[in-house]
Amino acid sequence: MHNPSRITIAHGDGIGPEIMDAVLHILDKAGANLEYDTIQIGEKVYASGSKTGISDESWAIIQKNGNFLKAPITTPQGGGFKSMNVTIRKTLGLFANVRPVQAYTPFVRSNFSKMDMVIIRENEEDLYAGIEHRQTQEVVQVLKLISRPGCERIIRYAFEYARAFGRKKVTCMTKDNIMKQADGLFHRIFNEIALEYPEIKADHLIIDIGSAIVANRPSTLDVVVTLNLYGDIISDIAAEVAGSVGLGGSSNIGKKVAMYEAIHGSAPDIAGKDMANPSGLLNAAIMMLGQMGKTEVADTIKNAWLCTLEDGIHTGDIFKIGQSEERVGTKAFAEAIVSRLGKKPETLEPAHTAGRKSIQIKEGSYPHEEKKLEGIDIFLDWDKDERNPDVLGHTLQKLTSEDFKLQMISNRGLKVFPNGFEETYCTDHWRCRFLRTKESIGSLDLLSLQKRVVEAGFDIIKTENLFSFDGLKGYSLGQGE
Ligand code: NAD
Repeated sequence: MHNPSRITIAHGDGIGPEIMDAVLHILDKAGANLEYDTIQIGEKVYASGSKTGISDESWAIIQKNGNFLKAPITTPQGGGFKSMNVTIRKTLGLFANVRPVQAYTPFVRSNFSKMDMVIIRENEEDLYAGIEHRQTQEVVQVLKLISRPGCERIIRYAFEYARAFGRKKVTCMTKDNIMKQADGLFHRIFNEIALEYPEIKADHLIIDIGSAIVANRPSTLDVVVTLNLYGDIISDIAAEVAGSVGLGGSSNIGKKVAMYEAIHGSAPDIAGKDMANPSGLLNAAIMMLGQMGKTEVADTIKNAWLCTLEDGIHTGDIFKIGQSEERVGTKAFAEAIVSRLGKKPETLEPAHTAGRKSIQIKEGSYPHEEKKLEGIDIFLDWDKDERNPDVLGHTLQKLTSEDFKLQMISNRGLKVFPNGFEETYCTDHWRCRFLRTKESIGSLDLLSLQKRVVEAGFDIIKTENLFSFDGLKGYSLGQGE
């Protein structure tokens, strides 16, 4: 039977075992009342021949317990090894990466004393599907896949998180001025879901200006929700500018399983020296206790940790002469926290999540929209006639019948036919857009058009069907179309 107090732990590599021992000691002394199943991950498992760094038996234990507290591991370089984090996230459907980033000034140096933001990053989609193809001598592509349920889940999670933690604002960051379909979907769903949370302010920033704000005015941000790649980048910027890379924890949340870890790596340079700061993993454990409903003990530990920072008891990574009182190792730092259990910080904001419910999100249902075939983009590898788009365009126009017209040709997204500019550089990769001219077309019409194109000597490298949904274009226009 499932025991809600039983969690999976992995001691990891490098400083992993030291910081895990320190954290378990604190959890134990605080009365977290947890039971543990320990699994092996990382270097030893990679060395035994596993490509993923995690054994088959360990998967079953993680699935059974639901909550997984993981110390950092050392990822071997080269040799075809897969990132264990990516494998775990995707295999277990851990759709949300949650990373609170906070400054603890004046006790820990930071450029931004009021910074207190949470980045909620979509974890499964976007360019991280890793679907890449080389198509011509000059051009490779990568597919960015965004799904409506994927957007909805992460955005709803962000608002539920804001509500649960009493946060006031959720900022969505996308690049939908360029990617109107993919990022546009994320932004549109954000606007829809925001209406269900009228007490929370909702705004949107284009990711480039958003990243700049993370870097130089982070205290204006509260909760940020964004797509996978942008979230990956801004969470590292945020941790760096907060001055707390060694302090931050993060969670990877799925419907049934969640994984909690420090944001730093295995720090092999200081491993085994009793120097590592266990705060990152401790903060991850505090997030876990909160999600498990053990909010009181989560607050007790957080407050004792904040008191320790306030009292100037610091590990080497945050120790500063004139600011810190005592430089301690991993074990002594953990003992300092234990001796402050029950105390509340005086200057830093105490934790007050007691009674908070664990975050649950409901799945959406979607209206079925009428999908209609409108045409096809045929991509060609073409390197003839000095790559003159007019030559290509006029040749293709002769292949159209009463079924299709050649709407345009683009090169790297920019329209070059009809009426292109002589100055535009063209690669050997051409998108030729054919739209239907009769009321309805089917796959066979597309195939017969492609047959004519191939018979005329062209090298088709891929095609994309063009659809409308309830009359709205499901494809973007070429730049300049
Ligand atoms: P790192 O985070 O391990 O270390 C960067 C620097 O920060 C080092 O100088 C280190 O001593 C210091 N540092 C990190 N954590 C600290 C702590 N808790 N206390 C005090 N100082 C700390 O990053 P890296 O050196 O780039 O990576 C080392 C290994 O960790 C690599 O194999 C990498 O693949 C792996 N890694 C694992 C994870 C993970 O398991 N989630 C994340 C990042 C990196």
